[in-house]
Amino acid sequence: MENEKGLLLVLSGPSGVGKGTVCSALRNRESNIVYSVSATTRAPRAGEVDGVNYFFKSREKFQQMIAQDQLLEWAEYVNNYYGTPREYVESQIEQGNDVILEIEVQGAMQVKEKFPHGVFIFLSPPSMEELKNRIVGRGTETDDSITNRMTVATEEIDMMEHYDYVVVNDEVELACDRIQAIVLAEHCKKERKIKQYRKLLKEVK
Ligand code: 5GP
Repeated sequence: MENEKGLLLVLSGPSGVGKGTVCSALRNRESNIVYSVSATTRAPRAGEVDGVNYFFKSREKFQQMIAQDQLLEWAEYVNNYYGTPREYVESQIEQGNDVILEIEVQGAMQVKEKFPHGVFIFLSPPSMEELKNRIVGRGTETDDSITNRMTVATEEIDMMEHYDYVVVNDEVELACDRIQAIVLAEHCKKERKIKQYRKLLKEVK
């Protein structure tokens, strides 16, 4: 049977909800999911590696990437630019690998326009209190950045209705189980299979 294309998975959710942790846990599991590394103008946090966590860029370089249409989507978030390099995502999907983008909601809505068949997953915190504890507990943000991120977080949670699935991140391993269940179900969708079977039936007749 003809090779299936990979799924485009988009994971959003407020800052501090644990998207990064859930994504790395997913990457450690035996799965067909590859992770798209974003470009950003934000400074690296301690322990972050260029090319692994992000491609760290100057504002000029980032603007050049936008001008050359190298980004599938991009957004400004808390005074920095973030964007998804296009080529890697498109080639992986073509090769049949599922690609996960961990991006904020404005970028996700741009992807939705270009890839209406993408799978949009919203990772939500068990509560707002827990969300604030996680951002503060991370110890990487200034007071201003914490306030900004909490304001943006409430706006982001409002965008949940534009997603296909909501996964609560109460425990990382459980959140990963739920995402893997979604991926499995999406692969079984009749829309993804029906064309192949029609072709198969034609060959038999
Ligand atoms: P952080 O600074 O905490 O790493 O990321 C801030 C926000 O930017 C997070 O919500 C993260 O998901 C989002 N983000 C990371 N990469 C991208 C990207 O390529 N595009 C968009 N639109 N958002 C991104």
